[in-house]
Amino acid sequence: MSDEVHNVVIIGSGPAGYTAAIYTARAMLSPLLIAGDLRGGQLSTTTEVENYPGFPASVTGPELMEKFQQQACNFGATVLQAEVSRIDANARPFRLYVRYGDQILAKSIIIATGAQSIWLNAPGEASLRSNGISTCATCDGALFKNERLIVVGGGDSAMEEATFLTRFASEVTIIHRRNEFRASKIMLERARANQKIEWATNRVVTRWVTDENGDLAGAEVRNTIDETESIIQCEGAFIAIGHRPSTAFLDEQVELDSEGYIVNKINSMTSVPGIFSCGDVTQSSKRYKQAITAAGEGCQAAMDCEKWLEEEN
Ligand code: NAP
Repeated sequence: MSDEVHNVVIIGSGPAGYTAAIYTARAMLSPLLIAGDLRGGQLSTTTEVENYPGFPASVTGPELMEKFQQQACNFGATVLQAEVSRIDANARPFRLYVRYGDQILAKSIIIATGAQSIWLNAPGEASLRSNGISTCATCDGALFKNERLIVVGGGDSAMEEATFLTRFASEVTIIHRRNEFRASKIMLERARANQKIEWATNRVVTRWVTDENGDLAGAEVRNTIDETESIIQCEGAFIAIGHRPSTAFLDEQVELDSEGYIVNKINSMTSVPGIFSCGDVTQSSKRYKQAITAAGEGCQAAMDCEKWLEEEN
């Protein structure tokens, strides 16, 4: 273990983490950013980003994240390609345990580990993941030109993905477990107005059906009202049933809500003084989940962290 005690270690390399790195680097804190397995976070698996201000001609997710990293490094941030398996929030300085690597010591930590898509885990799903069944329409939609698709879910993500997928698919069926929708009115209406979208409400997927080659051929669904079963044929399926925050490595050493999101106590500071959080991993992000809001929170966490370091050390 190196004896070096970092002023601030940032965990996560999405818009929140890199913005925190830019701000703490400019504050001369020489931040260390631990990038995790999915460098660039969820945006690294996105194609065009059309709503990030400053890019009128749009920008791809990986390109945008490359620019974030360059900007952070230009000001003196160090990026470590590794994954934090756990932290010790009781030790001072804090200790971070990096998988296949050394322990790292830090006066303060900014957690920006984001969230990951939830899979349905219906029977047959495991072997079809990223091979017929996906959680990212922007990443995989174009693979299904003129084919029949299913989207599972009843929130804004499901409506957005289904509407987007009609660009490629011959038809898209939204399977939702209720007849009421969590989606906002405008997104729901947009999907309802789309002639290529079919609706299968009050239905749950009981298993995925494959053809003789092992390719996805459909979803077996159960009607929750009359309990009848039927098969909806499709060549591709997209799961849009929400996200799970990446907080398991914290082992509940900072306060989490019932869904595992970090509850910040004073501004961006968690229940442990000196540990801050920002972006999709926080309870407050649930409503927005946008790159720009994550970046904004990264800035806030960096400023709060800088102030705390000044006062405490
Ligand atoms: P969400 O709002 O939590 O919706 C998840 C949907 O999946 C719900 O309809 C839920 O059904 C269903 N679901 C959950 N678990 C399920 C399961 N095991 N089996 C079957 N269905 C299941 O998640 P989201 O759509 O990802 O949206 C998350 C947040 O991001 C929201 O605040 C949303 O407004 C925002 N968002 C905004 C935009 C935009 O404005 N462009 C786009 C995407 C997302 P129930 O309703 O029955 O619980």
